[in-house]
Amino acid sequence: MNNLKTVDPEIADLVHQEIERQRDKIRLIPSENYVSSAVLEVSGSVLTNKYSEGYSKKRYYEGQQIIDQIELKAIRRAKALFGSESANVQPYSGSPANLAVYYAFARPGDPIMGLALDHGGHLTHGWGVSITGDFFTPVRYELHPETHLIDYDMVRDLALKHRPKVIMAGATAYPRIIDFEIFAQVAKEVEAIFCVDMAHIAGLVAGGAHPSPVPHADVVTTTTHKSLRGPRGGMILMKKKHRKAINKAVFPGLQGGPHNHTTAGIAVALKEASTDEFKAYAHKIVENAKHLAQCLNEKGFDLVSGGTDNHLILVDVTKRGTTGKPFAKALDKAGIVCNYNTVPFDPRPPFDPSGIRLGTPSLTSRGMGKPEMEKLADWMAIVSDNLENEDALAGIAGEVKELCNGFPAPGI
Ligand SMILES: *Cc1c(COP(=O)(O)O)cnc(C)c1O
Repeated sequence: MNNLKTVDPEIADLVHQEIERQRDKIRLIPSENYVSSAVLEVSGSVLTNKYSEGYSKKRYYEGQQIIDQIELKAIRRAKALFGSESANVQPYSGSPANLAVYYAFARPGDPIMGLALDHGGHLTHGWGVSITGDFFTPVRYELHPETHLIDYDMVRDLALKHRPKVIMAGATAYPRIIDFEIFAQVAKEVEAIFCVDMAHIAGLVAGGAHPSPVPHADVVTTTTHKSLRGPRGGMILMKKKHRKAINKAVFPGLQGGPHNHTTAGIAVALKEASTDEFKAYAHKIVENAKHLAQCLNEKGFDLVSGGTDNHLILVDVTKRGTTGKPFAKALDKAGIVCNYNTVPFDPRPPFDPSGIRLGTPSLTSRGMGKPEMEKLADWMAIVSDNLENEDALAGIAGEVKELCNGFPAPGI
């Protein structure tokens, strides 16, 4: 980054500090990852200089000889990897992708249905502080109070009662496999558009480590930067019959010019995700999550739904005598980065809930495996007993850094 150092040493220094942070800590935030050097290179390329409002062959600016090829490649690769009929690779991120789906199929005030945020759903699934809960009428289904799995009877009852225009399945904090078939049946019954938001699990789906929503859903939205390991961006896969409506909603409905450097990064990430190596990676993410869950269980941590089927673990930490926020803060001091999170039917407030949320995509990208999951669970147990013991936390941070040295992160 020699040019950056000359022009703006302050920002250069901060970037360098962030490199060290990402290098020396175990990153357990389930929505984060390490992109490859190839993705980093193209994300920082001159493609950022080009405007290309519209779609291939229907652009509003000249000079699209190259950009058209890049976007078409990204679209083709997305369709091939996920087996979808059509794809739009222009959404700026996951939230605008979801908003585009509502805009395509609902009018202001229309009912839209999604998993409640405090049960694992995303803000954009109709939560009150989001435009999606403000401009549309949200209908929220929840988890079953005993199993902590999606309450599919509730999904059907609410759908029949409110007849939502769009039914959204997908989550930010749900450790189990979602039954897309049931959702599809319900959506058919009430003539709703069935949209799956696979933001968190897209990499698992790509690698065959999670059932694909594509055969069941009208539309599938995703981010590209979580388990899929691409640049920060969004994508919409859809049946051919919805292509026009979705494309129109993305542009000119919601956005201006696409971020071409990101589109190219998505194309590269999709190529990487179509390899056998990535398939192995996706399976390893789940294997690591299952093993970490088991080790945490043995240390007396209480796991929501008892374990995991995917990349994510929700831990109720109250039985270990702590709560989400102080535990997450102490873990960060110990070089283990996660976030505090509500657990289903949480009696505690959202700013200091009962749980933490963990995920294995990042550490699996570094090549960590079973022995490291065991080590991690040990450290987490020690931290929970030493929340205020700065020396103990600093000691673990040193050990974490040493471990990380043996597992170089992609792109760094
Ligand atoms: C992360 C996420 C999003 C939003 O993505 P942004 O890129 O942060 O806008 C949407 N839906 C789900 C389920 C997510 O996990």
